[in-house]
Amino acid sequence: MNIRKTVSFSKNATNVFFHILTRCNLRCRHCYINPEQHGDNTLPLPTIEAWLAAYAEKSREANVIFLGGEPTLHPDLSGAIKKAKSLGYNSITVDTNGYLFHDILSKVSPDEVDYFSFSLDGATRDTNNKIRGEGSYDKCVAGIREAVSRGFAVSLIYTVSRANIHELEQMAPLLKELGVSRFFIQVIGIRGKSAGGREKLQLSKEEWLSVIPRAADKAADMGIAVTYPKVFLEPEESFECAALVADNYFIFPNGRVYRCPLCEDFPIHSLRFEGEKLVRTEKINENDLFELSIPEGCVMNKLIQPENLNYDTDGTPEYKVACCMLKQEIRNS
Ligand code: SF4
Ligand code: SF4
Repeated sequence: MNIRKTVSFSKNATNVFFHILTRCNLRCRHCYINPEQHGDNTLPLPTIEAWLAAYAEKSREANVIFLGGEPTLHPDLSGAIKKAKSLGYNSITVDTNGYLFHDILSKVSPDEVDYFSFSLDGATRDTNNKIRGEGSYDKCVAGIREAVSRGFAVSLIYTVSRANIHELEQMAPLLKELGVSRFFIQVIGIRGKSAGGREKLQLSKEEWLSVIPRAADKAADMGIAVTYPKVFLEPEESFECAALVADNYFIFPNGRVYRCPLCEDFPIHSLRFEGEKLVRTEKINENDLFELSIPEGCVMNKLIQPENLNYDTDGTPEYKVACCMLKQEIRNS
């Protein structure tokens, strides 16, 4: 039997989403990295270490996710992982497109990395490569096999859009065969490149609800832990903004630190690193938005993607849009 639960926000753990560079070898259609806002530098290892230390001190339980760009393009990723381990981070994850540069799997051990999280956006080579680029499917699958064979725990991220929703249900057997233990279904946002409006890739509420829960169940039936964003709240469910009730930080190599991923395309970060010191930014910044209470739920969603909302004839929103950080988990008991 599959057990479904909404993962509630908690201030007891700090989650550090650490973009150590923005450079990438791929050019995915939906890439959310925006060098104009996030810079194009590669953080030197001593700076990464200092910024990791700033968050390790903040919380007894801190988790770090190393991101890019492609984080394995950073020649010192292994040093960053070892530093996070020595600082006592509770969990260490590396999100990768699967190319695994700098022979990263030989430089770290399964004791040091909790998960390598690979991104694949199609169950077939054709669909994935149309989104992520020629050759990316084979590289990613080979990377997964290599990581699993070396004893690393592996998860997989599938960013669902109109370009690949038809293959989501085919993922479960593939994940099983590859030895993937966690499956993250992501919803395509309109940050970064997809915000340019060239393609209509976003799913409607109906498309989302008709496919995602069923595909998630199918993977859970095969013993894979599945996580996907809640997106739409039931009328009886209350809305919470993670920036107010959780402890998440999205760090970019130009020193910007955001509390909300939907704010990342705008210069409204609430914190920034000045050298090794974390300082608050001046008003007006993202913090001033989180406090606003609106009937539609997430303020940033209403500001940047109002087309996701529907209203009754009297102007009442048909549903609330959940915080983009609110997740649903399904596990087989
Ligand atoms: S692998 Fe990630 S960072 Fe690189 S282009 Fe694709 S989405 Fe962007
Ligand atoms: S996505 Fe919306 S609800 Fe979530 S942290 Fe950002 S502003 Fe708050």
